[in-house]
Amino acid sequence: MSEMLLKARALCGGYRDFQALFSIDFDVAKGEAVALVGANGAGKSTLFKTLVGLLPVKSGTLTFNGRDIAAMPAHTLSRQGLALVPEGRRLFKGLTVEDNLRVALDHARTVEPGETVWTLERLYDLFPILAERRRQVVEKLSGGQQQMVAIGRALMAQPKLLLCDEISLGLAPKVIGEIYAMIPSIRATGTAIVIVEQDVSLAQRCADRIYCMLEGRITLTGASSDISREQITEAYFGVK
Ligand code: ATP
Repeated sequence: MSEMLLKARALCGGYRDFQALFSIDFDVAKGEAVALVGANGAGKSTLFKTLVGLLPVKSGTLTFNGRDIAAMPAHTLSRQGLALVPEGRRLFKGLTVEDNLRVALDHARTVEPGETVWTLERLYDLFPILAERRRQVVEKLSGGQQQMVAIGRALMAQPKLLLCDEISLGLAPKVIGEIYAMIPSIRATGTAIVIVEQDVSLAQRCADRIYCMLEGRITLTGASSDISREQITEAYFGVK
């Protein structure tokens, strides 16, 4: 595998006295697309929040781009190139599409020479509907368009790794298709992407590798093309 961008080993985490992650080993290579699947409550969102510094690492190791990030706060990690598209989007209400996007520029990573820069123009090429809606407040947008803004805002932070938590939730199949069509364009800029996705078939089609979680543990990992539906069902529900 190519050079590892994110590397978690024996990672444990959770909330105060509640342990939600147990000895997680999780890798993402530069430019890779990875899917994280698992039932409700498996710990996918908790893992994402721990990776981006919103929840503490209780034990284990976590490196990003070769640096120990286990104790780094979220705002520092954003500048290192880790960006989260949170479940539920969490856009800035009352602000226009463009202002939501511009806010992220304040926390953006400094792009290295030769790297692709995510500009408003590049983003509007990716999601042309956002160019049309740029002056509208985000509440006026459809769910799919709001999701595009959420992805766009994360991209404006110039991530090396984009973590997308259930970006298809509640959206119509056609809109889901439009949103997932962005993955090759994002990868073409060298950005790696991890998606949490309930639709396992979609996850398998979009990702090079899959991780399956059950009750806070990784129960299966491998190349999307090598894993069968039966293996995923077993790892997902813990049944044969
Ligand atoms: P979903 O698809 O429902 O979002 P998930 O796989 O993302 O599921 P998490 O939200 O990470 O799962 O939840 C993992 C565990 O942590 C669950 O047992 C959940 O009840 C618990 N949990 C989640 N948020 C909190 C919190 N703020 N405080 C305490 N426990 C929490």
